[in-house]
Amino acid sequence: MGKLRSLDPELAEAMGLELERQRQSIELIASENFVSVAVMEAMGSWLNNKYSEGYPGKRYYGGNQFIDMSENLAIERAKKLFNADHANVQPHAGSQANMEIYFATIKLGDKILSLDLPKGGHLTHGSPVNFSGQFYKIASYNLDSETEQIDMDHVRKRAEEEKPQLLLCGYTVYPRIVDFKEFGEIAKDVGAVAMADVAHIAGLIAGGAHPQPLPHMDVVMTTTHKTLRGPKGAMILCKEGLAKAVDKAVFPGLQGGPIENMIAAKAVAFGEALRPEFKDYAKQVVANAKVLAGEMMALGYRLVSGGTDNHLMLVDLQEKGVTGREAEQLLEKIDISVNRNMIPNDPQKPWVASGIRLGTPAMTTRGLKESEMKEIARLIDTAIANKGDEAKLASLKEEVHALTGKFPLYPEIDF
Ligand SMILES: *Cc1c(COP(=O)(O)O)cnc(C)c1O
Repeated sequence: MGKLRSLDPELAEAMGLELERQRQSIELIASENFVSVAVMEAMGSWLNNKYSEGYPGKRYYGGNQFIDMSENLAIERAKKLFNADHANVQPHAGSQANMEIYFATIKLGDKILSLDLPKGGHLTHGSPVNFSGQFYKIASYNLDSETEQIDMDHVRKRAEEEKPQLLLCGYTVYPRIVDFKEFGEIAKDVGAVAMADVAHIAGLIAGGAHPQPLPHMDVVMTTTHKTLRGPKGAMILCKEGLAKAVDKAVFPGLQGGPIENMIAAKAVAFGEALRPEFKDYAKQVVANAKVLAGEMMALGYRLVSGGTDNHLMLVDLQEKGVTGREAEQLLEKIDISVNRNMIPNDPQKPWVASGIRLGTPAMTTRGLKESEMKEIARLIDTAIANKGDEAKLASLKEEVHALTGKFPLYPEIDF
């Protein structure tokens, strides 16, 4: 990396500062993670230079014999991780991949039944500001108002009332296990395509800490950069029957040339996820989340749905006298990184919100365990309780740096 420093010091400065920020901060944004140096090597490689429109064995450009080897490794490993008949590893991002699935399986104007968006769905599940809300009819199911969890009887009732062409499960801020089997049965009973968007929990699924969506689903989307700990990007997994339609929707339907350096990096990450250590990782992510959730509740915070079974939790701050936005900014001051999030029936606007989302995937990658989770809960609570006290916040920030200093990030990188 020596070249960049001397050729472009302006950019190198930004990159150096970001590395320092990542090293010093407690990263609790549930959708983030730290990829391995091997993944970064593939991302930053000469595979970037190749045009490869098409698929392995059927490219629209010559010279792809080695690119085919790399993309086939990504495909085979993806299929093994998720028990899939077919994998398309070319989607550039989760949002594109969701668009590609809709394009492959339903018609413009058809109806998608998904979770009511402010309750934990993704923009691409039907938000009016997103293509999904403009190209398709959107109907929603809700969380149970008591348990704040998904009630499958309610989902069935909504599916029977709405008769959607596509039934969608999978969320950005749902701390409980998704019942793919029941979702699949309901979809079949109403004649809908069964789709799961497992962007958040893919690493838990790959590591055996959450049930598999296949064979219950017809088609599954996941990003590759969240709990799965790979490069930014996505993939689509499906049964044989949808393979052709999915491939056509990705290319030439919505994409051109695949980003082969990123596909190689996906192969590296999938290889890592197939190793036994990844099972330990997934288990530890969940164990850490359970302890962090328990500790937050012990400190008097209400958690939406009363806890977590996966890698994230949603903290309701209404009784603590801070909004989500205030808490996010306050914690950023002491180098704890979280994101504000709407809670069910939130009285605040999305820009402000009444909750924060906390996730354990990134810090578990750095090696933190249960005892550090307890310390993190205490740091968060102390910051919120002392929000006007700059001296106290400064000392908390030092505690944060002392903690992260014990778990070096990328010690092999000298930038
Ligand atoms: C993150 C996420 C996506 C979108 O991923 P991008 O790569 O940011 O476009 C889609 N669905 C869910 C459920 C997500 O959490």
